[in-house]
Amino acid sequence: VDTTVATASTASATDAGATIAEQVAVVRAGFDSGITRPLEWRREQLEAMRRMLVENGPAIEQAVLADLGKPPVEGYMTEIGSVKTEIALTLKHLAKWTKRRKIPFVPTVMSNGFIQREPLGTVLVIAPWNYPVHLLLMPVVGALAAGDAVVMKPSEVAPATSAVLEELVPKYLDTRAITIIGGGIPETTELLSLPWDHVFYTGNGTVGRIVLRAAAEHLTPVTLELGGKSPVWVDPSADIAETANWLAWGKFLNTGQTCVAPDYVLTTPEVQPKLIAVLREEIAALYGDDPRRSPDYGRIVNERHANRLAGLIAGSNAAIGGEVDPGSRYVAPTVLQDVGAGDPAMQEEIFGPILPIVPVADVDAAIAHVNAGDKPLAMYLYSGDDAPIEAFLARTSSGSVAINANLIQNGISTLPFGGVGASGMGAYHGEESVRVFSHDRSVVRKVTWLPNLVKFSHPPFTPKKEKQ
Ligand code: NAD
Repeated sequence: VDTTVATASTASATDAGATIAEQVAVVRAGFDSGITRPLEWRREQLEAMRRMLVENGPAIEQAVLADLGKPPVEGYMTEIGSVKTEIALTLKHLAKWTKRRKIPFVPTVMSNGFIQREPLGTVLVIAPWNYPVHLLLMPVVGALAAGDAVVMKPSEVAPATSAVLEELVPKYLDTRAITIIGGGIPETTELLSLPWDHVFYTGNGTVGRIVLRAAAEHLTPVTLELGGKSPVWVDPSADIAETANWLAWGKFLNTGQTCVAPDYVLTTPEVQPKLIAVLREEIAALYGDDPRRSPDYGRIVNERHANRLAGLIAGSNAAIGGEVDPGSRYVAPTVLQDVGAGDPAMQEEIFGPILPIVPVADVDAAIAHVNAGDKPLAMYLYSGDDAPIEAFLARTSSGSVAINANLIQNGISTLPFGGVGASGMGAYHGEESVRVFSHDRSVVRKVTWLPNLVKFSHPPFTPKKEKQ
C-alpha cells in the first residue's frame, strides 16, 4: 500500500489546529504522491486561480484599498489584471515550456539525449506588502506551472489583503499540495527553518540575507527579488515634457511604493529647473491641485513608514509638495531639488512619493555616482542621443533598464525580471518563472543496436588503444 498517496488524498493543509510543520508536511506529501505532476492538474490550478481572481475582484480591490489606499482601478490593473495575464500566457505555452527538448544524436557515445524539465518539489513563496496580491501570486503561477507543491506566505504588513488571500486560496486551490500560511516574523522564521526545494523571497535586502542564511542550512536554492535605489538619468538631449510625464506616473503610482519606481534623478543643473516646472504640471494633471483629495492618489502602508518618509524630506529643499500627515498616512507627491549625495533621501531606498533631483556635471559624473552605490534593480535613461545610453549600458549594471520610459519592463513577459548584486539574485516572469521552479534534467540514452565503442577507452591501456 502506498501510504503517501493515502495521506495526500485525505489530509488537507488547512485542517484546523495543524501546526506550521504539519501543514507543510501535508503539502510535501501531496508532492511526493505525484498529484502535481500531470499537466492537467497544473492547468486546473491555474484556471482555479484565475476564477479566484475573477469571482473575488471587488473583495481584493477593497482589501488593497484598505491597506494602501490603492484606487480600485489601479488595484485591478496592478494586482488582478497582471496576474490574470500571466496565467493566460502560461496556460497557452504550458505544453511547450515543459516538454522534453531533444539534443542531436551524439555519435561519439552512440546516444540520443534530451532535457527533461521536472518540478523541484515543495517550494516556499514569501511576499511583501507593496503589491501584496501580485507579488505573492506571480511566482506561484510559475511554481504551479512547473508542477511544484507550494506554500505561500503573504505579508503581515498588508493585513486586509493577507486575510482575504488566506480565506480564498484554500477555497479555490488544491489543499493537498497548496497552502497559505499567515502571520508575521515568527511564522516566516519557522517556515525558513524547514527544508525546501526552493525559496522565492520578495522584499528588502536585510531580510533577504536572513533568507539566504536559513536556506544555506539545507542547501536550498533561492530567488531573492530585492530593492534598492533605481536611478534615472535625464540627458540634456531628452524630451523634458515626455520625461516628466513618465516620471510622474512611475514615481507616484502606488504612492511610490514600487520596487522598480524611479528612486532619484541625476541631471545637469541646467535641466533641473525645466524638469521641475513640467513635473509640477504633470502632478497637477494626475492628482489635481490638492492630491490629498484625489481619489486616485494612494496612502503609505502605515504610520511608521510615513514618519520615515517625513525624515527623508526634513531639511531638504522641496520644490514641489513636502507635506506629510503621518496620522492619515498621507505624503504629498514631492520633488526635492539640489539634493547632495550625503542628504537623507540618498541614504536608503525611498519607497515613497519623493523624487530627489541630484545635479551632476555630465554623463560621466552620473555614471560615477551610480557605480559608487549598489547595483540597482532598475535604471531609467531619458535621452534623445544614443551616446549617453550606450555609455550607461557599457559602464554600469542593473537588473533591468528602460530607455525613455519607466516600469514597463516589468510587464513584458519575454524579459526576465530580477535584480543583480544587492538588488537580488535570479529572475522570473513568463517562461523564466517555469525555469526557476524546475530542474532541467539531462538524460542520455545509448542506442542498443550499436556496439559500445566507449569501451575502447577503458583500461587496460594497451599500446594499440594508445594509438587510437
Ligand atoms: P515585508 O516587511 O512585508 O517583508 C516581506 C516578508 O518578509 C514578510 O512575509 C515578512 O513576514 C518577512 N519578514 C520580515 N522580517 C523578517 C525577519 N526578520 N525574519 C524573517 N522574515 C521576515 O516587505 P518589505 O521588505 O518591507 O518590502 C519592501 C521591499 O521589498 C523594498 O525594498 C522593495 O524594493 C522590495 N521589493 C522588491 C520587489 C522585486 O520584485 N524585486 C518587489 C517589491 C518589493
